[in-house]
Amino acid sequence: MEQDIFCGIAAGAIPANKLYEDKKVVVFTDINPQAPVHVVIIPRKHFTSLNDLEEKDEGLLGHMLLVAARIAREHGVAFSGYRLVINTGPQGGQAVPHLHMHLLGGRALAGELG
Ligand code: 5GP
Repeated sequence: MEQDIFCGIAAGAIPANKLYEDKKVVVFTDINPQAPVHVVIIPRKHFTSLNDLEEKDEGLLGHMLLVAARIAREHGVAFSGYRLVINTGPQGGQAVPHLHMHLLGGRALAGELG
């Protein structure tokens, strides 16, 4: 079975400031926040990246997006605005080899698409 730091957080073996969890996903604050609100949404199941998902995983992705929108509301950034990012592969800036979505908000975000 694949093991990485986010598998450890999902299993509770590695501590994290968890904000939400259910059968499919775990949400926790990023250890090195890049914005006042910076949370990470991961599937419990190990996928190395978005490249590993198949048609049958469509529901999981939809769930991750809905959980992100709920977390944004709960953290007061739904209307000020936020960004969801899925870094994929080396040139995409992915450091942790476990599919994850960043939710960034609480300040004006600049960047490649900003
Ligand atoms: P990536 O660059 O792979 O898209 O993002 C990985 C993110 O995971 C980074 O923002 C990094 O700060 C965060 N991260 C890495 N290790 C840990 C950890 O052990 N705990 C938490 N909470 N975040 C982590």
